[in-house]
Amino acid sequence: MDYSPGDTGPDRIGGLPSHLPVNWPRCQGGQERLAFIAQIYSCDWFPLNGLFCLQFYACVERCHLEVDFLHMELVHEGALENGKKRGVAHPDLPVKTINYTPTRDSLDHDTFLEIISDDNQEWPVLKDEHLHKDRLSGIYTFDGYEGPVVNKTNRCIGQFRHPCDPQTGLYLFHSDTEGIYLHAYC
Ligand SMILES: [Zn+2]
Repeated sequence: MDYSPGDTGPDRIGGLPSHLPVNWPRCQGGQERLAFIAQIYSCDWFPLNGLFCLQFYACVERCHLEVDFLHMELVHEGALENGKKRGVAHPDLPVKTINYTPTRDSLDHDTFLEIISDDNQEWPVLKDEHLHKDRLSGIYTFDGYEGPVVNKTNRCIGQFRHPCDPQTGLYLFHSDTEGIYLHAYC
């Protein structure tokens, strides 16, 4: 995925969310409202486990008390449209649209999961450059050494840099038991 200036598509960084969460999330520290950071909508190729969209929020004070530096809100179908543009935008985050380019990995995802689930096989090394960039779907390139173990029941479904803090890598996981969750690495 890449980013272009302005609000031209559903998936976006910055500005205000297109739909409102049931309760606007607050910082665990000062109780101030968190600022909206980004949104990703469910679509045919990224179904989100039945959810309508994922929204990401962070504390403007950067107190980093929210879980994993970035709070993720699971938004369900039927969420109110934010027609009146309510909420807290992040003051330092220019509005950008997230664009996607369909790309094929050099190894099929199911084959990859077969290989990494088999203790007798080495972790496959792929030279695909796109796997190291911000993206949704595709093969997880890390061996789970400092993060959640990846397998058939706990799949990594996305990776991107924290929009406010490029040193922090964020990984989206879909677990059969826990649903969709976020893991931060910095
Ligand atoms: Zn805070």
